[in-house]
Amino acid sequence: MSAIQGKVAVVTGAASGIGREIAFELARGGAAVAIADLNEAGAQSVAADIVKNGGRAIGLAMDVTDEAAVDAGIARVVAELGGVDILVSNAGIQIVNPIEQFAYADWKKMLAIHLDGAFLTTKAVLPHMYGPGASGKSRGGVVIYMGSVHSHLASPLKSAYVTAKHGLLGLSRTLAKEGAKHGVRSHVVCPGFVRTPLVDKQIPEQARELGISEEEVVSRVMLGNTVDGIFTTVQDVAQTVRFLTEFPTAALTGQSFVVSHGWHMQ
Ligand code: NAD
Repeated sequence: MSAIQGKVAVVTGAASGIGREIAFELARGGAAVAIADLNEAGAQSVAADIVKNGGRAIGLAMDVTDEAAVDAGIARVVAELGGVDILVSNAGIQIVNPIEQFAYADWKKMLAIHLDGAFLTTKAVLPHMYGPGASGKSRGGVVIYMGSVHSHLASPLKSAYVTAKHGLLGLSRTLAKEGAKHGVRSHVVCPGFVRTPLVDKQIPEQARELGISEEEVVSRVMLGNTVDGIFTTVQDVAQTVRFLTEFPTAALTGQSFVVSHGWHMQ
């Protein structure tokens, strides 16, 4: 039996792409999953698919940058699913531009979704993880932040993304230290390029900005430094997240796991 059987997971940004596959993978492990996304219809539809496949899931509207919406969403998860054991802070967007042309409003929006969203969802779930579990001790839990190879490397045009993804390492490492006495572990999972709507949107944008063809964006910019020229898949990332949620002790905490076909080796 999986170690996450009967646990409760919240996955943000799970109406699409990587988050959607993580929600399915955790449900396959027997966790009840709350799909929290700006796109409520998308969240409901993913939850319905999980339920159709025999899993337990609810979909909810949540803007991760809105403290009241995050708090209300987590309160609903606790009321309907009985607590929170796993948070996967995954919601994210991409905006590319050279720094001198980067609109301040876009910079703030990027940091709000990636960093404020990670902070607010963490802050909302911790009282439930720190509170008493069945044994009377802290319930404990696992928090996974969706970083990126850009948590470790920089690329042109991605100042806000690179800054935010680096920032998640700091939040995760601090939580690993603060949460340890309550049985809470935390990690950053760092994918290379994964073919999702977020990446598909960037291909023509980067081709325009860099003055190269879309094929070159894929073969040179996105996959040029991998060992095999292959995109990372949503399943690769979801399986890594599941492994970390199932790992039993704090032998693994405060770590960063790069899933990138060898693009970045640390
Ligand atoms: P995606 O566009 O397929 O999905 C992102 C989801 O986040 C969408 O469902 C969207 O509605 C939701 N979202 C956006 N803003 C939100 C908000 N304010 N509140 C709640 N939900 C919101 O993107 P993806 O590629 O699956 O990306 C998921 C995460 O993985 C992001 O954090 C991204 O930075 C990271 N990542 C992606 C790649 C990649 O190559 N696709 C690589 C490394 C890291």
